[in-house]
Amino acid sequence: MDFGLTDEQQLLLDSLDDLLERECPEHYIADLDLHHRPPASFRRAMHEAGFDTLGFPEEYGGTPCEALTLMMLAERVSRQGLNNGFGLELLQAMDILEFGSEEQKNAVLGLLATGDVPFALGFTEPGAGSDSSAMSTSAVHHNGLVTFKGTKTLITNALQSRYLLLMARNPGVEDPRKAISMYLVPLDSPGITTNPLDKILWHISDSCEIFLDDVTLPESCLVGVKGNGFKQLMRNFELERLMIAATCLGLAQCAFDDAADYAAQRVQFGRPIGTFQLIQLKLTDMAIKLENMRNFVYKTAWMVDQGLPLKSQGAMCKRYCAMSGFEIADEAMQIFGGVGVTVGARISRLWRDLRGHRFGGGTDEIMVHIAGRQIVKDHG
Ligand SMILES: Cc1cc2nc3c(=O)[nH]c(=O)nc-3n(C[C@H](O)[C@H](O)[C@H](O)COP(=O)(O)OP(=O)(O)OC[C@H]3O[C@@H](n4cnc5c(N)ncnc54)[C@H](O)[C@@H]3O)c2cc1C
Repeated sequence: MDFGLTDEQQLLLDSLDDLLERECPEHYIADLDLHHRPPASFRRAMHEAGFDTLGFPEEYGGTPCEALTLMMLAERVSRQGLNNGFGLELLQAMDILEFGSEEQKNAVLGLLATGDVPFALGFTEPGAGSDSSAMSTSAVHHNGLVTFKGTKTLITNALQSRYLLLMARNPGVEDPRKAISMYLVPLDSPGITTNPLDKILWHISDSCEIFLDDVTLPESCLVGVKGNGFKQLMRNFELERLMIAATCLGLAQCAFDDAADYAAQRVQFGRPIGTFQLIQLKLTDMAIKLENMRNFVYKTAWMVDQGLPLKSQGAMCKRYCAMSGFEIADEAMQIFGGVGVTVGARISRLWRDLRGHRFGGGTDEIMVHIAGRQIVKDHG
């Protein structure tokens, strides 16, 4: 087993380090967080340096890249303290490259080529969160057109995106597994209104309710095969979950580093608090969790690269990293004492942002639902 980096990985990480130092210093991230603004100039810089098309097939202007390397890059960006700064849009765009028409591919690739966020994912509804079978947004096909009606909620980056990758139900289909289709819907279509939701975390990404009121478009907005929407979405979802786990790893490492630095310099009772065993216990347990998270993410990515079936591995990895990442940030905040809860303290942002990952991409509990079923099946 080789735990070393390849020359290529080292080069990429070094060049990312330089870019982060230049384009994404802490004061930049803190300002975005405070004013609830997206990291537009950082995205542009990542685009110009070619990072945002790593992993894309060459025929679409990308550079092939292993899952393991992509996860290392996501870890590095979030270690800077920036949440969701790398990779998720890339993986979502894969759905279009794999299943979309030429017209859809050109639209999405055109936006990626300018460094813009091409689309938001519209899955969750007020009455359908974990239970996708309860989805009620309808897509009625008629005379070469399709009409959408319904409400989506908690949709990340809807205000920044040109399109909505919409999951909707085709009425009258008996088999529930074949009732959901995927559509690429321009967010400025007549009949669409968005309502931004105020939230306590992820301030650099907006979250919206989206109302679709008899939105009628040409049938060409269907992505892939009618009735295959859920299957298509799941195709790259494992990788997306893994990217979330890698993001949690980086954010947690950032929280740990901040807490360890603070423990070394904060003096109480005449000595640095890091010399107290209770603080050392916290730091040691945090370091153990980080080591486990990293091994979990890298091993799962390696399995993807080997073409091995992930079965319960992806869901377990997402659950472990989302939960442990937040636990690490929570302990880090404890080490900071009261100053940790002030808005200007980076740990307060890391703590908030890590909390969000216990929902997005499937909750902690739904990861048990997926992994647990598989474990029982494997031993049945
Ligand atoms: C920061 C953030 C970003 C998001 N981004 C997007 C996005 O871009 N696009 C999008 O479509 N959605 C997005 N979501 C929505 C997210 O996918 C949902 O919040 C998630 O799927 C859970 O659905 P819910 O919130 O309706 O909770 P519910 O499904 O109502 O669940 C409520 C609670 O019950 C638990 N629960 C539900 N079913 C079971 C079960 N069978 N067994 C045990 N426990 C269960 C859940 O784990 C949870 O703790 C985002 C959410 C957040 C917080």
